[in-house]
Amino acid sequence: MDQSDIKYTNQRIEILEFLKGFDGHPSVDDVYEGVRKKLTRISKATVYNNLKFLAEKGLIKEVNVKGVSRFESNLEPHHHAICIECGEIIDFQSEELREYAMKIAGKIDNFKVESTDTNFYGICKKCKEMK
Ligand SMILES: [Zn+2]
Ligand SMILES: [Zn+2]
Repeated sequence: MDQSDIKYTNQRIEILEFLKGFDGHPSVDDVYEGVRKKLTRISKATVYNNLKFLAEKGLIKEVNVKGVSRFESNLEPHHHAICIECGEIIDFQSEELREYAMKIAGKIDNFKVESTDTNFYGICKKCKEMK
């Protein structure tokens, strides 16, 4: 490993650690703000590239909300309830839904489904109370 490989590895470890300690689904901006304290010279583009790399390797998961990439280290299969007002994402489990989705997945022609994630869109409690 040369110097630059070590640098990237350290960045990825920091980013992964940050995600593991973050309760929720941070955006690139959130991660950037979070890791900047330790990785003082990191750029937002580098944070983004590292997040993409980690997601590609299956170490984290990317969730797209209203065209914005959000990330999480929770790799357990789960579903999302997404607030259309503020973008809040709530994780929830439903074995029933997963089984049902996989059953339907078997009916798609010429396609083998490996996994399913179902998103539910609506208004979160906080936004509802503000109305
Ligand atoms: Zn909301
Ligand atoms: Zn999630």
